[in-house]
Amino acid sequence: YGSIYDEVAEDTQYRLSTGEVVDQTTYPKIPHMKSEQARLLTFSAWPSDAPVRPRSLAQAGFYHLGQSDLVQCFCCGGKLSQWDDGDDPWDEHGAHWPNCFFVLGHDVGNVPLLD
Ligand SMILES: [Zn+2]
Repeated sequence: YGSIYDEVAEDTQYRLSTGEVVDQTTYPKIPHMKSEQARLLTFSAWPSDAPVRPRSLAQAGFYHLGQSDLVQCFCCGGKLSQWDDGDDPWDEHGAHWPNCFFVLGHDVGNVPLLD
C-alpha cells in the first residue's frame, strides 16, 4: 500500500516542470464518453435532416448533447453545431481545436467500434 513507484506520474511531473509538455492528465475531459459505442448511443434524437451522420461524428470523438445538432468532443470538450452539407467531422474538429489530443492522435483512451 502506497509503495508502488508511479513512474508515469513521476515522468509527467518531470516533463511538466521542464515545460516540455502541457498537462495531459486532465484528458479526456469526458471520460465516460471515450468509447465510440457509448458516443453512438447518444444520437438517438439526432435530427434526421442533419447532413452529418452519427457514425462519422462518433468516430471523430463527438457525442450528441441531445439538443438540435449540438455535439461535444469527449477529449477536449469542444462543442460544435449547425452542421452544413459536406462538413467532415474530423476536419471541423481539427479546424476548431487543432490542439485536441484526440485530433493530434495521442492515446487518450478512445475505444473504437469494431467493424
Ligand atoms: Zn477534441
